[in-house]
Amino acid sequence: MLDVLQVLRSVFEHEIAVNGRYLPLGRPETVAQMASALPELDRTKETTVTPMAPPNLFGEPEDPANDPSLSPYQRIEALIPEGSPLHSMTTLDEVEEYVRNTVLIPLDETRLNPVFGVGDPNADLMVIGEAPGADEDRQGEPFVGRAGQLLNKILAAINFKREEVYIANILKSRPPNNREPLPDEVEAHRPILFKQIALIKPKILLCVGKTAGNSLLNRNSSLASMRNKVLDFYGLPVVVTYHPAALLRNPQWKRDTWKDVQLLRTHYDQLTGK
Ligand code: URA
Repeated sequence: MLDVLQVLRSVFEHEIAVNGRYLPLGRPETVAQMASALPELDRTKETTVTPMAPPNLFGEPEDPANDPSLSPYQRIEALIPEGSPLHSMTTLDEVEEYVRNTVLIPLDETRLNPVFGVGDPNADLMVIGEAPGADEDRQGEPFVGRAGQLLNKILAAINFKREEVYIANILKSRPPNNREPLPDEVEAHRPILFKQIALIKPKILLCVGKTAGNSLLNRNSSLASMRNKVLDFYGLPVVVTYHPAALLRNPQWKRDTWKDVQLLRTHYDQLTGK
């Protein structure tokens, strides 16, 4: 069995070396033949479809989310499950209306208000929290309670005004008694965040708290292992730091938070030429 796999592998590798890709059937002999076999492109039509990535070693289409030749925003859009109505949406308003009118998880029925996101729709920095609390649920805006006041101060300390960044959460609906989001809830709401990122096109992300970092990056790591570095999310840089609510309870973590957000600011300045 291993031998058969090795032979198959060498056939694929040879094909890829000769043709730049694996062409299984009826291979045209010349570039001209190849070109004439392609359908005419209708350039009058705009399309939002994510381009097909080149096939992998086995001739199967590669997952576009893993194709480094695509932009981070195309790759992140490709994480949204096939068939989701989010794919055809082209504005944040459309996505917000969808969130307001759609029950994806039981929390969407018990919330007072959906908490979609707030800030500059063209922001270069996007801040990502965990889920709305009681104040956010009442007002329909992220980070408006005590943790929000501290977040504003943290942003101000690195010269950002709240209005010039975009702030959103992993969950758009409040979990009861501020419990941690459940895996099913994260899975159901994460595509909304992916669409927000794909439309806003920030240059860098700041996740506040372990849950936000793990939920975005789809991992299960300690905060210590995620903070104090720049991580990668499908080509987008991500800094993870403490949640402001945790800092209210543990002010001794403020020094490390300061380090993290200075790292964020330095990267932001490099990426935006500011
Ligand atoms: N905590 C969060 O993670 N998000 C909010 O919007 C408020 C508190």
